[in-house]
Amino acid sequence: MAGLDLIKTYSSDSEDEHDEKKKSNKDKIVNRLAIPTSILSWEGVIYHEEMIDDPLNHDGRKRSFKHERGNWATLIYINCITSDCLHTWINSVLNELSIQGNIIFNFHISLSRTLVLKFHWIESFVEDLKLLCHKFNKFVIQLTDVKVYCNEEKTRTFLGIYCQDKDGTLKHLTKVLDGLLAEYQLPSFYKDTSYHISIFWCLGDQRAHLQKFLPFLTCNLNKFLAENTEDSFIYVNEIQCKIGNKCYMFELR
Ligand code: AMP
Repeated sequence: MAGLDLIKTYSSDSEDEHDEKKKSNKDKIVNRLAIPTSILSWEGVIYHEEMIDDPLNHDGRKRSFKHERGNWATLIYINCITSDCLHTWINSVLNELSIQGNIIFNFHISLSRTLVLKFHWIESFVEDLKLLCHKFNKFVIQLTDVKVYCNEEKTRTFLGIYCQDKDGTLKHLTKVLDGLLAEYQLPSFYKDTSYHISIFWCLGDQRAHLQKFLPFLTCNLNKFLAENTEDSFIYVNEIQCKIGNKCYMFELR
């Protein structure tokens, strides 16, 4: 996964770090308030330490924003459940081209950039998102061709299967989502939005190199989809949002 993958699993506040202090202050502590279970289930950021991002820990990828206490990496997306046949096709076609990089196995269609949400906004943001999604009907999107994408920092390049927004619902949904993001002073999605399912990524700006494979990949994909028509469509029944390591699902109407 791409954006989704960048949403790191934050390690939880370490109780151990307090142990020493706790021992010395033991006499002073009279009543320690229990941490609410809703908060215990969250894995928070270690706030005593500056997180040092080591790209070697995640295949050379670099974090696109600073890891700070109270900042939660957030992505709104459609989770795509596809057939094994599509995975097999992706594997075989990419192996045939022997392009250096990583095949992506968990498919999603991003509906936002990777956002940085403040902890105190999470609850109302999730509630707003839920209400918003309930106003949208379930819809269908169609897979059509293969395109190349590069992240904003130009540190990673992706091959993605372009998704056609058949009845314009996706565009409308993005517009409404952008409105919500603006209320939280979060950036809107790309102006020239190109909905896609990333299937492969590699380090650096390799657009020129990967572009050469597109006619072959698209032709091959179309052949595959003609023989496996059920794989051409994604039925969107819900929208997902990942905040930190927690995933929320919002059903469409
Ligand atoms: P994703 O798999 O959704 O994370 O997308 C892979 C990359 O495509 C992201 O890093 C995006 O920044 C990038 N991207 C580049 N141009 C676009 C565009 N027009 N619409 C959507 N994503 C884009």
